[in-house]
Amino acid sequence: PYTRRIAVVTGGNKGIGLEVCRQLASDGVTVVLTARDEKRGADAVEKLKALGLCDILFHQLEITDSSSIAALADFLKTRFGRLDILVNNAAVSGVEHVQEVDTNEEKRLEWVLKNIRDTVDGAKKSIQTNYYGTKHVIDTLLPLLQSSNGGRIANVTSAYGLLRRINNEEIRQELDDIENLTEERLDELLGKFLKDFEADALEMHGWPVGLAAYKVAKAAMNAYSRILARRNRALRINCVHPGYVKTDMSMSSGVLTPEEGARSVVNVALLPDGGPTGAYFAMGQEASF
Ligand code: NDP
Repeated sequence: PYTRRIAVVTGGNKGIGLEVCRQLASDGVTVVLTARDEKRGADAVEKLKALGLCDILFHQLEITDSSSIAALADFLKTRFGRLDILVNNAAVSGVEHVQEVDTNEEKRLEWVLKNIRDTVDGAKKSIQTNYYGTKHVIDTLLPLLQSSNGGRIANVTSAYGLLRRINNEEIRQELDDIENLTEERLDELLGKFLKDFEADALEMHGWPVGLAAYKVAKAAMNAYSRILARRNRALRINCVHPGYVKTDMSMSSGVLTPEEGARSVVNVALLPDGGPTGAYFAMGQEASF
């Protein structure tokens, strides 16, 4: 049997995901770096190999494509018969940039927020990718994680997905009532969100405004993660906010380097046996959802 731990990282070709791959590989984990684009993924693996990290494989993964997810599952099953660590890092912001970042500008959050626009198509994409894509990856790879001795899932969500971002008290409470919340109800809530978005009625119904779908998708992933943790007591399933990191997603704004952001994610991915599960981590600490 294969003795090293095996990790899959989604969206591993750049940003925080690439750094997560580098750090896990440096810690002696066999890393399956995945990317939706073969070329970008292969280039990323080459970069890491050039650093002397040899235990890295590439596999294509588009998280919104079920056949791509199934192909990855087949590969893992045939090659290793199990999976020890799944890092769900891939995501999109789902917003349009009104203008390019002025490189002379102090690239800070307020500037970026002023220069993005939520669109219906972007919102759908954000929900489809950040919630449904991630969920589909988890559901498909779960049997392989259950075959591990200490399966771990680290879902890279965001402080933008915290419950306090949702003004609608009923929805906020439902998302926090993990004992009674179901996957079906999450689907209904996301359907209602998109309907309200299209009707330009977000504020009226107490949804977040500005990066709305991103926030709601991350809040839904936090909730799903907690549901899963309750159902799979042998696994450690947690969410982590990497901090505000300089990457393409933040238009190179952000205060942390990808290396610093990735460190938080890796710490959660490598939590010891018997450690927390169904929890949320920010700034290296367990915090409330
Ligand atoms: P980047 O935009 O730099 O990287 C995103 C990665 O996700 C890329 O590899 C991208 O691939 C991949 N990806 C996007 N859509 C898909 C898809 N459908 N299938 C497979 N891969 C996909 O972002 P970050 O590194 O900043 O973000 C990483 C994670 O951290 C995300 O979950 C994000 O929400 C979260 N986060 C980031 C923060 C920040 O400040 N940067 C703050 C809080 C959370 P491709 O190159 O092909 O586009």
